[in-house]
Amino acid sequence: EQIERSFAGARALGPLTLEAQAQCVTAVLGPSGCGKSTLLRLVVGLLQPDAGTISIGGTPLTAANLRGLRLRTGYVIQEGGLFPHLTAYDNVALLPRDLGRGETWIAARVAELATLCHLPAEFLPRFPAQLSGGQRQRVALGRAIVREPKAFLLDEPLSNLDARLRAEMRAELARLHRRLGATMLYVTHDQEEALTLGDRVVVLRDGAVQQAGPPLELYERPANVFVAGFLGAPAMNLLPGASGLALDLPSTRPPEPVIGVRPGDVALVAPGTGHADARVEVVEVLGHATLVHLRLAGSGAALRALVTGAGSLAPAIGETAGVRLATERLHLFDPRDGLRLELSGPTGG
Ligand code: ATP
Repeated sequence: EQIERSFAGARALGPLTLEAQAQCVTAVLGPSGCGKSTLLRLVVGLLQPDAGTISIGGTPLTAANLRGLRLRTGYVIQEGGLFPHLTAYDNVALLPRDLGRGETWIAARVAELATLCHLPAEFLPRFPAQLSGGQRQRVALGRAIVREPKAFLLDEPLSNLDARLRAEMRAELARLHRRLGATMLYVTHDQEEALTLGDRVVVLRDGAVQQAGPPLELYERPANVFVAGFLGAPAMNLLPGASGLALDLPSTRPPEPVIGVRPGDVALVAPGTGHADARVEVVEVLGHATLVHLRLAGSGAALRALVTGAGSLAPAIGETAGVRLATERLHLFDPRDGLRLELSGPTGG
């Protein structure tokens, strides 16, 4: 609540209030440097806030109860944070040994976790320096899970994995969360990870919350241009004013709103039959769809259209196409402060 933290006089975070609800995944999403890691380091007790309080399970974090609370949290950082002089196996076995678990129990548990975290057994005898970044991250995840914590604090735990493994581990984390019913605070700069894993997504920018809510709510009703541009891939088009589009917009104040339209809501039609004509500049084949980069005639504004469907007719570079926007799915924003404009008219949705 009302957390603030500065480094050398420069504000890194806050004032910030947020709640990570019990048994839910709260995904904290934001660009590099927005204060995500600072937030987690504060929650885990590695940093002290300049102002505000942090409570875990209703208990305010203090110097006196820090150790007790930390034992109940599993903290995984981007770099893994493994003990360099212990093997992968011993890193995971450390806490169960401290708790007096027998070696047979530990061996079975480590093997189970290695499978869960997609870490082949041959890597267990290796030291962290002999592992790749992604392998270290998987050991760190296993080490966090073995604690059977009430809460997981995860700082970009999948960032070093390749795309395929990342998608697999993302699903594995979702399964794990369902099985353990643990509370997760999950920090990432990857909007897809936040949308797919988060029960709630909190978007941070420059240490301040931009919007918090269920993922689809943020996707469908972004509160400002920053959230609109950050959530969703390919990113939403944000056009200054009407940009020469023949749109029948409801009158807004201010009169020239920023128009947000997702590339999937832009259709290509015959020249002269859409809201505007545009020149095709770049065509990116994505496999399941094709992303067409366009330049609007007249205003010269850039616009991207996502053409989907088998055998979709993507025009060639240099050609002119008509563009038609799904007007019921436009987002309008105030050009002065970037805030969403709420409308009751047909384009208000
Ligand atoms: P990334 O995604 O790149 O890891 P982040 O969102 O986690 O970024 P933080 O690491 O929380 O960002 O940093 C937030 C801001 O605070 C940055 O501007 C950073 O430079 C600054 N900062 C963080 N730690 C320190 C420190 N120990 N001393 C000085 N400045 C710091």
